[in-house]
Amino acid sequence: MSGEIESEPCVGGTCGQCHWRSFCYRWATERNDVSLIRKLNRPKRSALRKAGIKTVKELAIFGRTKKPLEVKGISGVALSQFVRRAAVFEQGEPILHSPVRFPEKTLEVFFDIETEPLENICYLYGAVERRGTEQRYVSFFAESPEEEEGAWKAFWNYAADLKDFQVYYYTSYEKTVLTALSERYEFDHQLFERFFLNSTDLYAIVDRCTEWPSHSYSIKIVSKLLGFKYSEADPGGLKAALWYMDYVSNPEANRDLKRKIIQYNKEDCEAMIILKDWLAGKSRDFEEH
Ligand code: SF4
Repeated sequence: MSGEIESEPCVGGTCGQCHWRSFCYRWATERNDVSLIRKLNRPKRSALRKAGIKTVKELAIFGRTKKPLEVKGISGVALSQFVRRAAVFEQGEPILHSPVRFPEKTLEVFFDIETEPLENICYLYGAVERRGTEQRYVSFFAESPEEEEGAWKAFWNYAADLKDFQVYYYTSYEKTVLTALSERYEFDHQLFERFFLNSTDLYAIVDRCTEWPSHSYSIKIVSKLLGFKYSEADPGGLKAALWYMDYVSNPEANRDLKRKIIQYNKEDCEAMIILKDWLAGKSRDFEEH
C-alpha cells in the first residue's frame, strides 16, 4: 500500500479470472518473465532464478546450450518441457510434437455449454454441426433458471437423433456438468454413454501433443493464435453468465444480450473447428515427413 515493496506476480492458470490479470500479464510480458511459460509456478521460477535464468529467452538459450539439462528443484521431464515451451515462445508459432488421428465420421459436432455458477445452472447447449463442407449451428436455451430442465431435455432429444457422429468439446468441463445434471434430472443414461463414447476432448490433445507461445492453452487463446477472431474483445464464460442474469431479469429489455450469448457460444464452437482442422493438418504433415 505504501508502494515501497513491489509484488512479483507469477502468472498462471488461475489468472484468467482474476481482477489483476491485465497488470500481472503486462508486468510479466515487459520482463519476459519465465512465469509466462505454462505451468511454471512460483517454486519452479525460484529454482530457475537460483540457476541464473530469469527470462523466457534465457531459458530457451539454456535449452540450446546446456547438455545435460539440469536445474536443482525441477525434474528432468518438467525442465525439458519448460525448455521446449520457451523455444516455442521465442519462435512465436505453435507446434504439434505428436501426430493425432481423428475418427472418420459423417457428422462432426462441435459442442459447448454455458453455465451460471452462482445459480449452478446450465442454461445453454450449443453445437456447430459439420457435414463435409456444410455447417449449421443448433442451440437449446433456458429462458430462465426454472427452464433448465426443459433445455436439458431438448438437447438430449436432439442428441438421440445423431448418427455416425463424433462430438468435439474443449476440456472436461462439459462432461462434468452433464454428469451432474444426469443425476439431477430423470434421464436415459445409455444416451449419455453413447454421446461421450463418440466424443473427443480437444483440450486433452492440445495438452498432450502441442505447445503454444502462450501462458494459457484456453480455446480463446489457441484459436486466436490460429487467426480466429471473436466478436467480443474479451470473451469469456463468466461475462456470458452476467449477460444471462441480466437477460432473465428483463428479457424484453435485454433481447440483445441473448443474441450476444448465443453468438459467443457459437464462436466457441467455431474456434474448435479451426483448432481441430489445424491439428488434423499438422498431423498429416507430420506423417508425410
Ligand atoms: S492475475 Fe496476478 S494477482 Fe491474479 S492470480 Fe494471476 S498473478 Fe496472482
